[in-house]
Amino acid sequence: MQQVNAFANKAGKEQTATLVEVRNLKKYFRSQSSSAFHKQYIKAVDDVSFNILRGETFGLVGESGCGKSTLGRAMIYLHQPSDGKVIFDGQELQELKPQELKNFRKKMQFIFQDPSASLNPRINIGNILLEPFRIHRVGSRQERQEKIKYLLERVGLSAYHLSCFPHELSGGQKQRVGIARALALNPQLIICDEAVSALDVSIQAQVINLLEDLQQDFSLTYMFISHDLSVIHHISDRIAVMYLGKIVELGNHQEIYEQTLHPYAQALISAIPHTELDHAKERILLKGDVPSPVDPPLGCRFHTRCAQATTKCSMEEPNLKHISAEHYVACHIYA
Ligand code: SF4
Repeated sequence: MQQVNAFANKAGKEQTATLVEVRNLKKYFRSQSSSAFHKQYIKAVDDVSFNILRGETFGLVGESGCGKSTLGRAMIYLHQPSDGKVIFDGQELQELKPQELKNFRKKMQFIFQDPSASLNPRINIGNILLEPFRIHRVGSRQERQEKIKYLLERVGLSAYHLSCFPHELSGGQKQRVGIARALALNPQLIICDEAVSALDVSIQAQVINLLEDLQQDFSLTYMFISHDLSVIHHISDRIAVMYLGKIVELGNHQEIYEQTLHPYAQALISAIPHTELDHAKERILLKGDVPSPVDPPLGCRFHTRCAQATTKCSMEEPNLKHISAEHYVACHIYA
């Protein structure tokens, strides 16, 4: 896949350098129905390649179960990849020894979908925020306390919350604690995995605005994973559309929303409420369910649901092809 080396993001600021390179990444899980004689694998992420540029928000969108979260976790080795490479800030992660990888993780943080499940209910917020400093042995006692108070204020909470336990906070407050924890060690990349999906709509907007402010102030790069196209539309500079373990379309914000090419991406975009797009799109309804990742269809994985499928689509898998400056699509229509 061709490298994307520069683009202007939604704010018009030019991004130039690659922070993360993902090359032919695969993550397979052994299926529960697997036996010693018949091994079966869930191909959650299957040969995925893309770059994330410094300072951008890279959106990853697709239906539930398409492999988005697994891809995010495999990228920072929370799941050991089955194959492929991740090069972060020039360092190939696979080459790192466990202790080196642990140190490197300071640069890559994760915000989880469910703020209630991601915070230890038995310890107070002060101790939850102390954990990253303890684990990585960063700062003196006084420096840690000062940084924690600063981070709490920066995410819209206060020193009052230090002694609170997670169950005493609202969902939005808990996610703010999750964001403060992710910021603690001055990361370069934060992967936000459905970070606002569990929140009420009004709170979602506040948390998204907070993330956008923090991106500027802390020079952060985001990978924003969501099934919600409205959220991805609002926050992302470039967007990858994922289907059944594969990226099927990748492009900048305008290309994905106004010049959508892949039939699956067209169906997803058509589902966005008209008020959120410049031009109303006719709703395309997809038929059938997403096939099993244990036994994905041969050829194009979308052919069982695609209204434009031909015989070739069921026999030959389309590669991700370069269409224009930053636009890529995996579909035989654009051969
Ligand atoms: Fe549809 Fe064929 Fe394109 Fe796949 S390759 S999206 S089945 S037209």
